[in-house]
Amino acid sequence: MAQLLDTPIEYLKGVGPQRGEILRKEAKIFTFRDLLHYFPFRYIDRTKFHAVRDVPATEGYVQLKGRISGVTVTGAGRGKRLNAKFTDGSGVVDLVWFQGVKYIQGSLNPAKTYILFGKAKLFGGKWSVPHPELEVFEENTAAGKQLQPVYPSGEKMSAKGLNSKGIEKLTRTLFEHITVAIPDYFPPDFLQKNNLIDRNTALRNIHFPSGPAMAEKARFRLKFEELFFLQLELIIRKEIGKQRNKSFVFTEVGHTFLDFYENYLPFPLTNAQKRVIKEIRSDFHTGSQMNRLLQGDVGSGKTVVALLTMLIAVGNGYQTALMAPTEILANQHYLSLKEMVKDMPVRIELLTGSTKAAARKELHAGLESGEIHILVGTHALLEPKVKFKNLGYAVIDEQHRFGVAQRAKFWKKNTLPPHILVMTATPIPRTLAMSFYGDLDVSVIDELPPGRKPVSTVHYFESQRLKVFGFIEEEIRKGRQVYIVYPLISESETLDYQNLMQGYEAITRRFPLPDYKVSVVHGQMKAEDKDWEMARFVNGETQIMVATTVIEVGVNVPNASVMIIESSERFGLSQLHQLRGRVGRGAEQSYCILMSGNKLSNEAKTRLSTMCATNDGFRIAEVDLELRGPGDIMGTQQSGILDLQIADLAKDGQILTIARATAFELVEKDPQLAEAQHAGIRKKLNQQLKGKPNWSKIA
Ligand code: ADP
Ligand code: MG
Repeated sequence: MAQLLDTPIEYLKGVGPQRGEILRKEAKIFTFRDLLHYFPFRYIDRTKFHAVRDVPATEGYVQLKGRISGVTVTGAGRGKRLNAKFTDGSGVVDLVWFQGVKYIQGSLNPAKTYILFGKAKLFGGKWSVPHPELEVFEENTAAGKQLQPVYPSGEKMSAKGLNSKGIEKLTRTLFEHITVAIPDYFPPDFLQKNNLIDRNTALRNIHFPSGPAMAEKARFRLKFEELFFLQLELIIRKEIGKQRNKSFVFTEVGHTFLDFYENYLPFPLTNAQKRVIKEIRSDFHTGSQMNRLLQGDVGSGKTVVALLTMLIAVGNGYQTALMAPTEILANQHYLSLKEMVKDMPVRIELLTGSTKAAARKELHAGLESGEIHILVGTHALLEPKVKFKNLGYAVIDEQHRFGVAQRAKFWKKNTLPPHILVMTATPIPRTLAMSFYGDLDVSVIDELPPGRKPVSTVHYFESQRLKVFGFIEEEIRKGRQVYIVYPLISESETLDYQNLMQGYEAITRRFPLPDYKVSVVHGQMKAEDKDWEMARFVNGETQIMVATTVIEVGVNVPNASVMIIESSERFGLSQLHQLRGRVGRGAEQSYCILMSGNKLSNEAKTRLSTMCATNDGFRIAEVDLELRGPGDIMGTQQSGILDLQIADLAKDGQILTIARATAFELVEKDPQLAEAQHAGIRKKLNQQLKGKPNWSKIA
């Protein structure tokens, strides 16, 4: 069987070199096996028909059963048309062909009953179906072909006869070759327990279902299988990682932590923060490396969790690092951490791309002697010349900006790999978190610090700008500060930059000196200018900050109460949510104003109305997943593991949950998959792992 399925696709009857080329290029079908796994995305029910009378009320495709009459040819040359009437007794609809006139005319038979499939259109006040699919109706064949598969195809494929029908034909030919049952990976008990049909039945019925219920069962089985093996891979990698990666044991909470907790903690922790700190503490005891993802919405208080857990490491005699994706953010972390431990004997330093050579030298020395306890910085931390005496724990903030390979560099900075905490403010829907971080442990801060008022969000059009300016003025009068953010999207960078500068000028005209002061920050400025402008806003010297999304991540100015997002229709949902998270950090009511042009795509409308409707980051992430699909959300870097054939992470969360639980159960019972009944599962998993990098090493 395996041998047959490995046969190159061009050797299938009806394919050959030319179509083989198209199948490889357009559909990634290289072998018989790939064709077997090229699934239809829907079925046409050959037993259900619309009445011709209802055609005008039906949107989309119609399926009719009736007879053809009045076949005539009109026009000549390029204007040549074939016209006919189609009736089922309930009404009449026109049929029209612009091409293949002669051939089709010859094939139409008024004595026969046809099944028609097509899309009705209104032409000059009359309904007609252009180029319908026609098939002679035969009582007995229709019964066996109740559900006809519809396969994905495209123009290039269709041009070579590989439209849905063409693929269907090839698939039927393939099944003629498959004379024995396709073997299963799962043992019979497993199938029964999980309510799955066997693989042979599933593969035959996904293509040619014996009825709607079987189509559903086949789909479920194959989705389950796909998600199960994805989860199994992640779980097993994690187990392997735990066994292999010994790490440091922090035996006690330590005096540094306790000193801070008792004397300097600026506010009582939320229950969620306490729970997460406990989870991390217990990881520190195990002797295995911690690889933990900390999810918490913007403003949920991840920073203090990072600090407290770093202080555990420090109290146990280890050094720690905190890496942020931008200089602004690294700087802000540095300042806020330094402020919190200013009366303690803890030395914190900052290292970024703009750290001067002399300072760097001193810093390197301090790291190697162990005098520096906490090093905050950008990816500059990862450079090989940055050497620690004894790095025990690294925290990575906003990890989705860092590549996997970059993260792996921390591992080499000590004799054993340090513990790793990855913090993200982009809430990831559970289905995605399970798939991407199945090899990481996940902690969630699902509670905001007390007293936060939800940000009130409204959507305004350009024509309402004067009103918005009036509102800004009122807020500034009350002593608050305002962000105005412009998109900066690389393809049109120059234009965006012009927009920002024009916006800045308009703002300074409307809010002139000396009453108002405006900061401006964008990516083309020198780091020191950026920092200076940023600092003025943070210190309250300026009331308005005009910026690009460089301020998106992490910046904390509790007195800022208004976030205005210009051209908000150009931002993605998660970016909008991040930006909005910059306000609502103080005790005051805060506002987010989404400005947009008048013409909005449906998707943009959904994004903006979602923002206005909810502040819940997880809800927003789910809408985002539905709109964009998982690949775009997680970035292309990791999308390899999301080459799902049939399952859809946006829709199949429930199946994923079951598949994951089942995979866990299996690994618990038979960690090595050594039992004879699990041989099929083991074999399939090994195939799946072949040629993949060991990412348990680089989590
Ligand atoms: P994020 O999770 O987005 O990184 P931060 O750590 O920046 O959030 O915290 C946001 C704000 O909330 C900061 O001003 C921080 O001092 C404050 N904060 C954090 N935890 C608490 C708490 N338990 N009680 C009150 N304020 C808190
Ligand atoms: Mg943060």
